[in-house]
Amino acid sequence: MTIGHLDADCFYVSAERVRDPFRIGKPVGVLGNQGACVIAKSYEMKALGVKTGEPIWDASKKCPEGIYLKRDFRWYEVLSRRMLEIVGDFAPNVEYYSIDEFFFQVEGNNLKDPAHAAEMIRDRINRELHLPVTVGIARTRTLAKLFSDTAKPFGARAVLDPAEERSLLEKMPVIEITGIASRNAQRLAPYGIKTCLDFANADRKLINRILTKTGEAL
Ligand SMILES: [Mg+2]
Repeated sequence: MTIGHLDADCFYVSAERVRDPFRIGKPVGVLGNQGACVIAKSYEMKALGVKTGEPIWDASKKCPEGIYLKRDFRWYEVLSRRMLEIVGDFAPNVEYYSIDEFFFQVEGNNLKDPAHAAEMIRDRINRELHLPVTVGIARTRTLAKLFSDTAKPFGARAVLDPAEERSLLEKMPVIEITGIASRNAQRLAPYGIKTCLDFANADRKLINRILTKTGEAL
């Protein structure tokens, strides 16, 4: 099985930039909770130390020149649906995972050159919708997500060769896996589980025991 994972980069911010290109390249924060806190931020705002979930009064101290916008889920859903349609043109089996994340099965011609397929999907979404996304293709869902997460922003990466997969996993700290918090990573370290490769090779029961509930799902 060959699985693709697509994830829009800073989706809410990117969606706001589609609406007004003046916001491109500037620090942008999207506000939720009646405008009280930052739920999404651009890389420019992140560089100034603003964190997701931070109250607006703290964020505006760190980044007074920032553009702060109220979230608009209706607009984000319009773009999400259009992204889904484009992915559907490349892959008939698409799973809607969240508003800006889809998994898809890589089939037919795309199997001949998955790296090219990843680039084509990314570039078409960027050309037609002006949204930056990252695409990862791998042997499993977890790996596809891991490789796209680490190829951001605007990445396109296919890793199907076992040796290449191994060498990449070896270099990635276990904290890169979604769902592994730093506290969990600290618990795994004494068992010698430090990289994603250690994690993949470790005994499932041991992982389970160390991480209790979250381990098995991962
Ligand atoms: Mg995203």
